Amino acid sequence: MPHHAAIDVLPDQVDGEQVMAWSRDHNFRNYGRLPAVMVRGEGVYLWDAGGKRYLDWESGGRAGNALGHANPVIAAAVKSQVDRLAYISNDFYNYPQARLAAALAETGPCTRAFFCNSGAEANETAIKLVRKWAKRKKGEGATEIVTALKSFHGRTLGALTATGQPKFQSGFEPLPGGFTHVPFNDVAALESAVGPQTAGVMLEPVLGESGIHPATRDFLHAARQLCDRHGALLVMDEVQTGFGRTGKFWAWEHFGAKPDVIACAKTMGGGLPLGVCLATEDASTGIGPGDHGCTFGGNPLACTAGLAALKLLRDDGLVEQAVLRGDYLRRRLDALAARTGAVTEIRSLGLMAGLDLRQPVAFDVMKACLADGLVISASSENTLRLLPALIIEDAQIDEGIVILERQMGKAGAGA
Ligand SMILES: *Cc1c(COP(=O)(O)O)cnc(C)c1O
Repeated sequence: MPHHAAIDVLPDQVDGEQVMAWSRDHNFRNYGRLPAVMVRGEGVYLWDAGGKRYLDWESGGRAGNALGHANPVIAAAVKSQVDRLAYISNDFYNYPQARLAAALAETGPCTRAFFCNSGAEANETAIKLVRKWAKRKKGEGATEIVTALKSFHGRTLGALTATGQPKFQSGFEPLPGGFTHVPFNDVAALESAVGPQTAGVMLEPVLGESGIHPATRDFLHAARQLCDRHGALLVMDEVQTGFGRTGKFWAWEHFGAKPDVIACAKTMGGGLPLGVCLATEDASTGIGPGDHGCTFGGNPLACTAGLAALKLLRDDGLVEQAVLRGDYLRRRLDALAARTGAVTEIRSLGLMAGLDLRQPVAFDVMKACLADGLVISASSENTLRLLPALIIEDAQIDEGIVILERQMGKAGAGA
């Protein structure tokens, strides 16, 4: 009989050193973790096991919770639902899933929903849908999906292959076939890549992971027109941009190029794992009876969180807030850039911002900011990425700017 240590499910006091030791010894080595054990959050603040407070400009990191930590509306909804019914399979109907599908349909033009647990799964669903739809409409040869270089679509094999960055792919070959990559915002390259063999074009309206690069209007409109001309589907990967992040409910609305399929996750779960693949009535026929499924997809608990998130977005005007707070953040960043001379370019849309630093010290700045009580991220040695929660206030933007400027100065970001 092996020895079992007692398990304390909800310790009053978390031992940070012990947590890091367990994790170092027993988690896979895939994540480069920062030296902080987060135990509690409230709004845009986080506390670690030692009681240190951080201002969170990353929505929990990776934009995973954009409605604030321990949001009371979401917490109350989730607590009630877990007491009623947390899980039921898709062999049955359930209220939160159906209500959320109906609410998302109102955002148009994608009026049918398949729920899953993550962004990668949402994109996998889109890839399967596109292939089967195109084979039926255009014949067996129309299997190709065109995506952008520097894109990010997730880590499962299909989404990984759609991702236009070799660093995520190398070592995992053989990758599935049928993907072509073109430079982002290169209309001519897109025109030569899309043809009768194309099943779909899959794009982020703003490249998120690779440093906040918004699409041009021309590029997305060219994608729409090429898809129409060749009978292919336009998929928008709104996993990071969707649900208000950019100051519109969907980021594609900034550009006016309507998608046939939308993948979303991150913000929509209000901090719980929830993803969705949305499709127009016609595109949704790509996934027919028995074609796809997901055990936990659309479970009542995550969908209740999604419903509460959507209601909050509307009741508190958080999409409009993302415009106002995004403008304020941008003005403060522009002023910081002018004062320090350390920033070569700022790109932003709503509450997504990327800062290119003159010197390759972005990871140093990120770590120094963490030690100084501000959570930000770096997407490369030269680029900082900011994804604050949609509930952030101007005073909390001011608070972060002070720390960011101090640490950029110390790291010699402009030297
Ligand atoms: C984060 C992200 C994904 C992957 O989402 P996961 O939930 O981590 O699987 C896919 N696409 C985009 C645009 C993302 O930002």
